[in-house]
Amino acid sequence: MEEKQPVLELENVSVAYDSEAGMVQAVNNVSLKVYENTIVGLIGESGSGKSTLGNTIMHLMKNNAVLTSCTIKVMGQDIYRLNKKDLRKFRWSQMSMVFQSAMNALNPVLTIEDQILDVFFSHDKNISRKEANRRAVELMDIVSIDSVHLKSYPHELSGGMRQRIVIAIAIALDPKLVIMDEPTTALDVVVQRSILDKIKEIQKVKKFAILFISHDFSLVTELASKVAIMYAGRFIEITDSHSLSQSERHHPYTQGLIKAIPHLTSEDVTIEGIPGNPPNLVELPSGCAYHPRCPHAFDLCMRERPETRLVENREIECHLYETVEK
Ligand code: ATP
Ligand code: SF4
Repeated sequence: MEEKQPVLELENVSVAYDSEAGMVQAVNNVSLKVYENTIVGLIGESGSGKSTLGNTIMHLMKNNAVLTSCTIKVMGQDIYRLNKKDLRKFRWSQMSMVFQSAMNALNPVLTIEDQILDVFFSHDKNISRKEANRRAVELMDIVSIDSVHLKSYPHELSGGMRQRIVIAIAIALDPKLVIMDEPTTALDVVVQRSILDKIKEIQKVKKFAILFISHDFSLVTELASKVAIMYAGRFIEITDSHSLSQSERHHPYTQGLIKAIPHLTSEDVTIEGIPGNPPNLVELPSGCAYHPRCPHAFDLCMRERPETRLVENREIECHLYETVEK
């Protein structure tokens, strides 16, 4: 049977920043497939390379970023082979992104209407004002904001409403892939919950794929069906999220993340943090980059970087699992 085409396909993606301190290896040889109508979580501590990867997929890299030879395909299209004009068309219509703190990036001197209409006009010179207006009202309805607010300026709306507007803009042209980089981090928990419910609701109807970036483990596992766990620029584990309710037979770092979640309903309120700090990406530890923090580290871990192994359908980079490879 022919394999379904992924919406997003990453193969051996590496990105380094050329900095005064040396080359910062922010993303280190990652591969992933994301299919239509799925939510995949990308989780990791601050500085693990999540935003770098999101921006790289959007072909929006910083000036000092260096991308090594790799494949980044969205809907089968290698986006690094598009010319500038085609890339501009491709972005937002096929793939879009809700950036970190995006709600503060809305233009303060333009109304919400102007900012939404601008998306339609910049991608379709022939669209009539009436049609663009109709679609703006429809979008406001999708994100549950009264269309009277099309006439509002960003500062007249709450943080939660502004974030919904940003999501509306990201989905305005019906993209097949939406990357969401910490879309709710700046909001209080109640608003965060309502935005997450809204994201789930819209995704169910529109069936696009979401790459949901966050450092919040419980939030990602609740939302996503599959999770890629990033440590020091690498995917140290890719797993389905329901198996994360049990910590056995996961990567030791994943186990640490699971133990660090507070279980409010349980009698046992002990939370075990992960000792130590993420490594310096200019000078990674030898072998497995997690070895200085890993409770299971042994000799080999300091000498050799583990290959990816398939362990009960999870892709894990850890020497502990060498013997159970399928
Ligand atoms: P956060 O959750 O804090 O946003 P992240 O996981 O998204 O973190 P990135 O922002 O991708 O991580 O950063 C990965 C690494 O690259 C970090 O060590 C960061 O300091 C470094 N970095 C990011 N941008 C640059 C740059 N322009 N020049 C040099 N280093 C950079
Ligand atoms: Fe720990 Fe070794 Fe596995 Fe790395 S390879 S996670 S150090 S046991």
